[in-house]
This record gives sequence, C-alpha cells and structure tokens, in this order.
Amino acid sequence: MDFAWTPEQSDFRARVRAFIDEHWRAASTPAEGTRSERVKQYQARLAEHGWLTMAWPKEYGGGGASYFEQMIFSEESTHASAPGGGQGADRVGPTLIIHGSEEQKREHLPAIAAAKVEWCQGYSEPGAGSDLASLQTRAVRDGDEFIINDQKIWTSGAQSADWIHVLTRTDPDAPKHRGISYFMVRMDTPGIALRPIQQMNGAAGFTETFFEDVRVPARNMIGEENRGWYVSTTALDFERSGIGRIAGAVSPFQRLLEHARQPDSAGDGRRIVDSPTDRLALADTATEVEVGQLLGYRVTWMQSRGLVPNQEASMSKMFGSETQQRLARRGVNMFGLRGALSAGPQQSEVGAEFATYYLSSVALTIAAGTSEIQRNIIATRGLGLPRG
Ligand SMILES: Cc1cc2nc3c(=O)[nH]c(=O)nc-3n(C[C@H](O)[C@H](O)[C@H](O)COP(=O)(O)OP(=O)(O)OC[C@H]3O[C@@H](n4cnc5c(N)ncnc54)[C@H](O)[C@@H]3O)c2cc1C
Repeated sequence: MDFAWTPEQSDFRARVRAFIDEHWRAASTPAEGTRSERVKQYQARLAEHGWLTMAWPKEYGGGGASYFEQMIFSEESTHASAPGGGQGADRVGPTLIIHGSEEQKREHLPAIAAAKVEWCQGYSEPGAGSDLASLQTRAVRDGDEFIINDQKIWTSGAQSADWIHVLTRTDPDAPKHRGISYFMVRMDTPGIALRPIQQMNGAAGFTETFFEDVRVPARNMIGEENRGWYVSTTALDFERSGIGRIAGAVSPFQRLLEHARQPDSAGDGRRIVDSPTDRLALADTATEVEVGQLLGYRVTWMQSRGLVPNQEASMSKMFGSETQQRLARRGVNMFGLRGALSAGPQQSEVGAEFATYYLSSVALTIAAGTSEIQRNIIATRGLGLPRG
C-alpha cells in the first residue's frame, strides 16, 4: 500500500493551485461583479486552459485527464471555493458523449466546452425526490414535438441557465422506471416559469420550475423514448462520485483551527483551544477529515482500475457530508452565543462564516441522495442485508 502522491500528481496539484490563485483568488474581489459573473469569467479561463472539460475524451475536445487528475483538480477547487465545470461540463456533456446522437453532440458539446452555455437539472418534483422514478411531469407526443406539463422543484441555478435537462413521464401505464424520457429544453421556451425558493442561509439558489404546454422538438430527447431512466443514472453516477464532500471540510477546519489558537478567540480573554471540550472536538474533526479523504481516494483508485465503486461511493458521500455537518456544529458551539450571529461588531469573520456554514451544511446530506439512501445502499448492496 502506498499513500504517497507521484511526482507527476504533485506537480499537477501545484499547477492547479497556481492557476486557481491567479484566476480565481486574485480576481475574487467584490468590485469585480457578482459571484455568478465571476464564475462565468473563471469558467471561460478554464475552457481556454483546457481544464473545463479535462475529463472528456480527447476526440470530443476534452483533456483525457486521468481519474486522479480530475480528483486533484476537484479537491483543490473545493479547497479554494472555486467553481468546477458545472452541470454542462460535469454531467450533461459526459452523458451526451455516452448516450447522445451525433447531431446532439455536434450541437451541444462545443458550446459546453467553450463555457458558452449554462445548464440546470430538472429531476426532483414535490412528490419525487429519493424515489425519483415516481416522477409525474408529463411529456406527450404531438408530431415532431413533445408537450411538457407539470412541475419540477429544487432546480439549482435555473435563473441563470440557458438549458435544462429534464426527466418526464412519457408512458404512464408502463412500470415506473420504464415510462420515462429524458429531454434537453431551452429555458427561454414559452411556458416555462420560475419561482425562486428562499433558503434559510439567505440565498435563493433554487427555483420551483413550472412547465405549461412547453413544446420541445422530439430530436432533443437523449436516448430512446421511455428509456430515459437508464440515461439519467449515468448522469447521477457523475454527480455522486466525488471528493467534494470531504474536501469541503478542509478549508473551514483550517480557518477554525487558526482562529481557535488566537488570543481571545473565545471572546472572553481566553483561547478556544484552551477549553478541553473544544480541543477534543478539533481532534475529532482532524481524524474525520483524514478518514473521509481516504474514503474519497479509494473511490478514485477504484475508478482508475476500471472498478465500479458502489457502496464505497455511498460511504464516501455520506461520511464526507456528515463530517462537514459535525464540523459546522462544533464550530458554532465553540463560538457560544456568538455562534448564531452573522458578521458585525460582536462577531469575528470566521465566526460569521461558521454561522452561515452551519445553515448551508444542512443541505449536504440531502443533495445528490440523502444519507438514509446512502445507508440503504451500504446495507443492501454492500452488506447483502434485506431491503426494508
Ligand atoms: C443543495 C441541493 C441542491 C439540489 N439541486 C437539485 C437540482 O438542481 N435539481 C433537482 O432535480 N433536484 C435538486 N435537489 C433535490 C434533491 O435531489 C432532493 O432533495 C433529494 O433527492 C431528496 O428528495 P426530497 O427532498 O424529495 O426528500 P424525500 O425523498 O421526500 O425524503 C424525505 C426524508 O425521507 C427519507 N427517505 C426517503 N426515502 C427513504 C427510504 N427509502 N429509506 C429511508 N429513508 C428514506 C429521506 O432520507 C429524507 O430524510 C437539490 C437538493 C439540495 C439539498
């Protein structure tokens, strides 16, 4: 067993860090526009550099990067809170490469690779989340088109997206997994309406997405009619396996640790690290981050060997997201009553960051499959236990 990085991997990591420093950190000042504008500019730099689609095969304009290179890029980007490729480069493009027609590839891949379009994902519905295959949004054929009606929910990034990839029911009489078709729909198509959802952390990153007689050309269907479920599982695999969950704990933990060592970090003349409870909590997080990284690296190692991580990916996703929640909780507890305050005279910068982090971290064990669903996968596919 060798846990060391190769010289090539270390060199690649150093180049990724330097790129992020130059093009994201240095450019990330509020004066340079909203986060969404900065994300667009940065993704354009990534595209020029060939890193936006580093995971795509070379024949489709990608970089043909190894699994470990992709993981290192994702890890470093997450440490710096820098954007990656987004829905288009990370999910829609790879799904089209496997399941799309030649015409669809010609139309969409170059625009995605050049960071010219934004995509969002229309899967979840008010009555279909964990049990996604019970979705009810209907698409009915009308000549060369389908007409879509009903509603999606939790559509991240819908307000700035140009396109949505959306799962619909095309055969209501078939068994639920076999009556679903998968479409690409322009967001400016008449009949699409968005209603933003206000989140408890102050953001409004999601919408409810309504479809009323939305006409989509039949040629925008990915894969075969009524076989869309099997195409979407490809997109979900791309979404779920990733180092991002545990990598998201690294920078907040380092900032909390640095702050905890400062004189008066407890706000009453003491240092947080002088409290035995808080010292042990920091030690617990250090251990969990280490374990979580190894679980994540194992997933990448399996992919690099052509193995399919299944319960291993679920363990990594569940442990990484729950580690972040525990860290966020420990952080706000360390700040005591001030832990509930956002930025202001009574609150340090790190304290305010943790107040927001605590609220945001709730979503981590829901998005991309809840922790309960990951535990079900580990119990059934991993341990061979009966389904509940
Ligand atoms: C940050 C974030 C971003 C998201 N972005 C998108 C997006 O862009 N597009 C999109 O389509 N969706 C998106 N979602 C939605 C997400 O996919 C769903 O929230 C998720 O699949 C859970 O579905 P649900 O909210 O309907 O909860 P439900 O499925 O109703 O679950 C409710 C509770 O019941 C538990 N539960 C359900 N089934 C079982 C079971 N079989 N065994 C044990 N427990 C069970 C769940 O674990 C959960 O605790 C996003 C969610 C979040 C938090």
